[in-house]
Amino acid sequence: MNKERVAQLINELLLEMGEDPDREGLVKTPERVAEAYSFLTSGYSMDLKEVVNGAVFESEANNMILCKDIEVYSLCEHHILPFFGTCHIGYIAKNKVIGVSKMARIVNYYARRLQIQERLTSQIAHTIREEVGAEGVGVVMECRHMCMMMRGVQKQNSAMVTSSVLGSFHSSAATREEFMSLIGRR
Ligand code: ZN
Repeated sequence: MNKERVAQLINELLLEMGEDPDREGLVKTPERVAEAYSFLTSGYSMDLKEVVNGAVFESEANNMILCKDIEVYSLCEHHILPFFGTCHIGYIAKNKVIGVSKMARIVNYYARRLQIQERLTSQIAHTIREEVGAEGVGVVMECRHMCMMMRGVQKQNSAMVTSSVLGSFHSSAATREEFMSLIGRR
């Protein structure tokens, strides 16, 4: 991201809002916004290989492995406003497991860009499946969207829940139910 160019654009935006970009509180705002967007969209410039970085280990495990309540912060692609909440990831290992912090990094890799929650959920599930060669994967995400809370319908207390189930999580109701009960959704 060319931060200088973005700062210029934010300066223009401030003018269009009817603001005075030269007043004391706003003097450094364009640079700060450019810095913030650069971080919030840093997923575009990350390399998935580096994100996972060899943290897939051989293991005898073939049971369900779960990582609950991973914090998610992303930007909706329709309004460039934040949506945020939690993500639960479960998978059934097939002789390979992935480091738990890497699951959180995969979430950030896809969340730090313009997103819709449905696609974010499914990208995380497919990546875990491919990287770990899991027999099945389930991802459930529950987020609140600023574009719904602050504008539009102004529903402050509603959360959107999305799920993506692959492999045995899709084909076996018992596996899916075990996952849902472990994450406290049943
Ligand atoms: Zn939106």
